[in-house]
Amino acid sequence: MAGMTSSARPLLNRRLAEFGTTIFAEMSALAVRTGSINLGQGFPDTDGPEEIREAAVRALRDGRGNQYPPGPGIPELRTAVAEHQLRRYGLSYDPDTEVLVTAGATEAIAAALLALLEPGDEVIALEPYYDSYAACIAMAGGKRVPVTLRPHQEGAGFRLDLGELRDAVTPRTRLLLLNTPHNPTGTVLTRPELAEIARLAVEHDLLVVTDEVYEHLVYDDAEHIPLATFPGMRERTVSISSAGKTFSFTGWKVGWVTAAPGLVTAVRSAKQFLTYVSSGPFQYAVAEALALPDTYFETLRADLRAKRDLLASGLAQAGFTVFRPAGTYFITTDIRPLGEGDGFAFCRALPERAGVVAIPNAVFYDHRETGAPFVRFAFCKQLHVLEEAVSRLKRLAS
Ligand code: PMP
Ligand code: GLN
Repeated sequence: MAGMTSSARPLLNRRLAEFGTTIFAEMSALAVRTGSINLGQGFPDTDGPEEIREAAVRALRDGRGNQYPPGPGIPELRTAVAEHQLRRYGLSYDPDTEVLVTAGATEAIAAALLALLEPGDEVIALEPYYDSYAACIAMAGGKRVPVTLRPHQEGAGFRLDLGELRDAVTPRTRLLLLNTPHNPTGTVLTRPELAEIARLAVEHDLLVVTDEVYEHLVYDDAEHIPLATFPGMRERTVSISSAGKTFSFTGWKVGWVTAAPGLVTAVRSAKQFLTYVSSGPFQYAVAEALALPDTYFETLRADLRAKRDLLASGLAQAGFTVFRPAGTYFITTDIRPLGEGDGFAFCRALPERAGVVAIPNAVFYDHRETGAPFVRFAFCKQLHVLEEAVSRLKRLAS
């Protein structure tokens, strides 16, 4: 039939047509190609604790996890996740029915959305949103409804307008997809903000998926408070985290979901047909990592805070407007003081101009023009690497 040949029809389906290669792959390849300092993709340039790496080696050598681990995850890790939630947040989850191990937070997000959405359901996500959210909502046939975080004065960072969030809820809204601490802005939602979000979810009987992969990366007096701790939230919230950021092993891809049994069962139904299981030996190592003493988490935070401070002051000296992040690996900047307005063009030229790679925040926006002047730099790098990046970036203004 005319017009129906395979060559006339695009290979990538309509749901995914708008999502090309992720910005992280594009920018990391650009960094390698140009020999630039990669402050784009968020991964540390030093590995996590030696004893945890050794725990993975031990598991491999002892033959623990080299064959398919159990579908929901190994019991040791599910127990360690439950103990972590109880110890840190007073949240009690049954390791057998309320914890699910996933291939990183990425799979947890995909499985949750594929499991919980019907085609046409609206999903409210905080814009700028992590790129996999939009793709997974699309794969599930949902409709994303962005609520934009807006920059306040320098120092205060980006904030959520609770009125805008309330206005975004319609009878078709099924789910709130939250992320705190927030990538890419570094915003940490406060207790009053979370309390209001919880009230809204209860009032409209919404499900909530909350991505808390940066739960341990909060600085100064910011506090990470899981949404599931608020009244009425435990039974409607799918909480997601992962080992990548907390233990500086982003390549291991061990994540987890904690939620009420009905929600975990639903998410597991989708998850079992995505990867079934993953990361056998690493699950044993992460179970040990979650039991590390508090000093590990305090040292991680102090180390990253010093890196944030170095990069934030360096970027300010280089002429950027800096939105000081309260959490995560990332600093969002405004490039307009440098006489620039298009973050995409700026980031594509930056390796040539300064030997540094960064991420244009516009990729995380439906309202691309709103995100255009913002550029994200990762500070999870060694101090001497950040110092060198800053000295290169200072040449931009001259
Ligand atoms: N959510 C957010 C907000 C992220 O920044 C990332 C990247 N670490 C992920 C999820 C994915 O996490 P993972 O590597 O565990 O799949
Ligand atoms: N979460 C990391 C970031 O935001 C990247 C993860 C990925 O490459 N998908 O930079």
